[in-house]
Amino acid sequence: GTQRAIDYINKVYEDVKKRDPHDYEFHQAVKEIFTSLIPVFAKHPFYIEQAVLERMVEPERMIVFRVPWVDDQGVTHVNRGFRVQFSSAIGPYKGGIRFHPSVNASVIKFLGFEQIFKNSLTGLPIGGGKGGSDFDPKGKSDTEIMRFTQSFMNELYRHIGASIDVPAGDIGVGAREIGYMFGQYKKIRGGYEAGVLTGKGVGYGGSLARKEATGYGTVYFVEELLKENGLSFKGRTVIVSGSGNVSIYAIEKAQQLGAKVVACSDSNGYIYDNNGLNLETIKQIKEIERNRIRDYLTVHPHAEYVEGCSGIWSIPCDIALPCATQNELDNMAAKALVSNGVKAIGEGANMPCTLEAVDIFLNSGVLFGPGKAVNAGGVAVSALEMAQNSMRLSWSFEEVDVKLHEIMKTIFENSMKAAEEYGHPGNLVIGANIAGFLKVADAIIAQGVI
Ligand code: GLU
Repeated sequence: GTQRAIDYINKVYEDVKKRDPHDYEFHQAVKEIFTSLIPVFAKHPFYIEQAVLERMVEPERMIVFRVPWVDDQGVTHVNRGFRVQFSSAIGPYKGGIRFHPSVNASVIKFLGFEQIFKNSLTGLPIGGGKGGSDFDPKGKSDTEIMRFTQSFMNELYRHIGASIDVPAGDIGVGAREIGYMFGQYKKIRGGYEAGVLTGKGVGYGGSLARKEATGYGTVYFVEELLKENGLSFKGRTVIVSGSGNVSIYAIEKAQQLGAKVVACSDSNGYIYDNNGLNLETIKQIKEIERNRIRDYLTVHPHAEYVEGCSGIWSIPCDIALPCATQNELDNMAAKALVSNGVKAIGEGANMPCTLEAVDIFLNSGVLFGPGKAVNAGGVAVSALEMAQNSMRLSWSFEEVDVKLHEIMKTIFENSMKAAEEYGHPGNLVIGANIAGFLKVADAIIAQGVI
């Protein structure tokens, strides 16, 4: 059984590479999932006969479009927009929109592919999708952001809907951008369809605790992982890369649980504060002033600022939460963390660790929580926002937070169970991938060849 499973997986993987030879990030995400699924195909050759993988790796639809906009000087620019509608097997396509110069078809496909399994893991009825643009929001005025975002929606609106495809934020897209998108969608459609986007402001259909959800969920998951191994956040030294929405609320929750968070970063460099980071200062710089993290030093001159972001992983810590972006933590960084005695890693970002880095952690006995399980709290609360929109009511912060906490515990338990059942006890990479996969695969088969 195992050899047939390996041959099957290799064949589908080679076909994926042949079809889009330069989609490296997508290949990386596919390879990680495929490797995890060997025990599933060995045990259930049924999935091979049903060509489940072939059907999963090809998106249902990939939309690519032109996004023209005019800057404050009156100069016209053109960016490229994407929306991948990867899988609607268990619910409407669901996933964020990313505005970052690194966005291309490969990045959107890797994110959309991961989203299928992540969304399945939440236990909620949401399919997999992702979108974005190579637009760089850095240094743009508020009016430029608004014009660009409206232009993006001028095309996107025809592809989305509360039971079709429900976008949300991701890197470079927060409540401000979702607000402009929602306004433009409403203007075009002429009706108040709150459930078409999530991550909205709480005053107009957004969910309380959505902003905090990805970061809080990351820490809730890692807390379970630590607990399972007789450890906790209390008194531990933590490093959180990034300083966006995920990082800020991961820092907040880790601090609430008694951890000392000593470093965070942005795309220019990182700050190190031996006293523990002052989160109010970071929120002021990042959420209000939209400035660079190095400004932390003007308020806290005893802290250190270092140019470049990979150096953050050479700071000794007990727990590392990479919450910035894909492939931010490579094998060199992993070796540095291991030799400094790191105990646990939780991927707050999507695919922040390279395949080599993950292997180093697993082979060194470091506790490792993979992104599609660890950071699923964001999209989970997005699904709760959809539920509230359908019911035309809103839950309290406390109610949402309790549900989020339950969901993260269940994801941890289901991933542990799947890892055990398929012969890799404790391996959450394999467990999360298998648990996410099975539900989607069974739905695909039940719905026929479509
Ligand atoms: N962008 C987030 C993610 O990577 C959230 C997506 C959503 O809320 O739809 O899962």
